[in-house]
Amino acid sequence: MAVLWLDEISAGDLEQVGGKGASLGELTGAGLPVPPGFVVTAGTYRRFIEDAEIDEELFAAVDVDVDDSAALADAADRAQELIVETPFPDELREEILESYREVGDGEAFVAVRSSATAEDLPDASFAGQQETFLNVTEEDLLNRVRECWASLFTQRAIYYRQEQGFDHSAVNIAVVVQQMVDAEKSGVMFTSHPSTGDPTMIIEAAWGLGEAVVSGAVSPDNYVIDRGDRSMDLTIAEKKVMHEKDEETGQTVERDVPEEKRTQRVISDDEIDALMDLGERVEDHYGEPQDVEWAIVDGDVYMLQSRPITTIDEDETAADATGSVDPTKGLTDGSGSAQAADGSSATGASADSSASSGEVIVDGLGSSPGTVSGPAKIVTKLDDLAKVSEGDIIVTEMTMPDMVPAMKRASGIITDEGGMTSHAAIVSRELGVPAIVGTTNATTVLQDGQVVTLDGDKGAVLEGKTVEPDEETEPVEEVRPQSPVKPMTATEVKVNVSIPEAAERAAATGADGVGLLRTEHMILSLNQTPEKFIAENGTDAYITELVEGIRGVADEFYPRPVRVRTLDAPTDEFRQLEGGEDEPEEHNPMLGYRGIRRSLDRTDVFAHELEAFHRLYELGYDNVEIMLPLVNDAEDIYRAKECMKEAGIDPEKRKWGAMIETPAAALSVEEMADAGIDFASFGTNDLTQYTLAVDRNNEHVADRFDELHPAVLRLLGDVIETCRERGVDTSICGQAGSKPEMVQFLVNEGISSISANIDAVRDVQHEVKRVEQKLLLDSVR
Ligand code: PEP
Ligand code: MG
Repeated sequence: MAVLWLDEISAGDLEQVGGKGASLGELTGAGLPVPPGFVVTAGTYRRFIEDAEIDEELFAAVDVDVDDSAALADAADRAQELIVETPFPDELREEILESYREVGDGEAFVAVRSSATAEDLPDASFAGQQETFLNVTEEDLLNRVRECWASLFTQRAIYYRQEQGFDHSAVNIAVVVQQMVDAEKSGVMFTSHPSTGDPTMIIEAAWGLGEAVVSGAVSPDNYVIDRGDRSMDLTIAEKKVMHEKDEETGQTVERDVPEEKRTQRVISDDEIDALMDLGERVEDHYGEPQDVEWAIVDGDVYMLQSRPITTIDEDETAADATGSVDPTKGLTDGSGSAQAADGSSATGASADSSASSGEVIVDGLGSSPGTVSGPAKIVTKLDDLAKVSEGDIIVTEMTMPDMVPAMKRASGIITDEGGMTSHAAIVSRELGVPAIVGTTNATTVLQDGQVVTLDGDKGAVLEGKTVEPDEETEPVEEVRPQSPVKPMTATEVKVNVSIPEAAERAAATGADGVGLLRTEHMILSLNQTPEKFIAENGTDAYITELVEGIRGVADEFYPRPVRVRTLDAPTDEFRQLEGGEDEPEEHNPMLGYRGIRRSLDRTDVFAHELEAFHRLYELGYDNVEIMLPLVNDAEDIYRAKECMKEAGIDPEKRKWGAMIETPAAALSVEEMADAGIDFASFGTNDLTQYTLAVDRNNEHVADRFDELHPAVLRLLGDVIETCRERGVDTSICGQAGSKPEMVQFLVNEGISSISANIDAVRDVQHEVKRVEQKLLLDSVR
């Protein structure tokens, strides 16, 4: 048998039907209303290549040096060509087509999707097995199946398997063929409240096909229903567009919702009852709250997909062997979340139970929220890092990139120097470790081993231990990814990432992409200046470091966009690295040799960075965008664009843009638009320091550092206006994008996206939605 029907699949068939096929089979088997379909099994793929005797040639073709991008591209082309050009044997062709004809009387539009079977691959999605074709009919079906098979041999997939040491010939692929539901209405449903865990179902619903809701193209109606008495809280949204199947072409198209249906409630009470019954059945089946995609056609409810709600923390579910979660607590308890998971739990802190005087002994800027107690470890030189154990609180002048491993172990961080945008502040927020910066005197006032309590919200260090270890989960709750009920916003909400290790946490926020990926942390963690590293290890090693660092984040977010900034470290940061003695001495490094200035001066080093981008594009990371830091004018842009072209990057094909970090850049944005930028992104940390002449890292003038100063806001507003006229996207990736007042200002001005810190993403999404709704209301009043 070349195919298995969804209702024939059992748990033991995973190898044959892959993850997607197995889960649809399980739901079908449980009697849930899944649209009918079948799986072309992994064994069929295998027989196809073996019977046609293309297997050996196929595996030989992809046995290449994956760092040679030309060879890799040729290998992928050759392998895919071999598969798509090999004809189906008659018998197999007939069996697949006959199965298709049994779905929807031979006239069905079907979805054709690859289904990974290599469950031992750490990230099967990256193995390239993620092809999806919608609205397929008999005419194209066989080609689509072959294309799914060929997706095993994209450049990315080949590269990945080679790097991970997987044998190409050991990986198989199944293909799911399933009837498309021509939905009149559709949406998502959370079977329990995803952030509070209450026994409350949340349903979002809009007209037409589900992609409009899932992709955020439309704001859906929102129904919050108590599972006990079924009382309901209802918010009806204005639904302007819907996705539908075009009757002639079969393709999905976006259409305007007819006027009378725009503010009409989408699902009736009966339909809500049907959805809730379905939700309860699927939750019972899996024993845990689910996030379900559903569709309704002719009054029948279908379930398209179901997965566990991802914010339920793992320890909670793992602790419960039956898998059943008490939804009233399982979703809200922050224990076992990011902080504990990355090894920085506060267990060390509990060792000392000395009573606390609770007196404030040091204060500074609370830069990463949460409260923890633990022994202070004074770090004055790198050797001291060895004494930092899990649960300790690092006390140091200022953190450096090579301290990141110890920062992960620590339960808290306190520095003498720095402001809200310093290394310690940025990295601790991304790691979810409470921190206080700019205390001026922590390293002298605090004693090594002294037990203290760090309150990262208030910016206060108290003597002794004032919180019990179980209360220390509090900070985690604040920084952990929260509810997956992502408010639908027209303004995109993205996230900032500085250390690749934070990519997973960042992606779990549900952000629309990465608005700023700082590459300097990848370079600084090499502990050598780029020039030194290249001299010792060669250019290829340098490029590979960049490719690997960026790839980790680009993967985590794929296909959401990731805006990667080219190198921007001031010379004083480079000076502390090996090779730093060759850095120029500067009176004021913030006004000196950094960002695009350095790149355009050392075009040889810049070329290696651009080569890294080039390789990522070759590997298929079309979600990577290039952002240029500290530009002043269009001249900088033209010169950088030339460098991109020399590196083989086509500026017309890729998305790239500039940071607006100097008043000069803000005043030159029109000319920069002429030079071809796709986006302008506000670096308000620098824009504020240069507009107000306030050093962002100088704690003595920290009270004068005001991103909401009218002069800064004037520059921001003017740039947004100019860019809107020119069709250039605008964004903010400075720290101020996490502040509600700034969000209000920018959304009102019409910014295209806002990039926030990991811990602020969800609040920013809500704030953006609130401001957008107010704008809408104001426009109709
Ligand atoms: C900024 O200046 O606002 C910015 C985002 O860049 P950085 O903080 O890395 O200078
Ligand atoms: Mg900057």
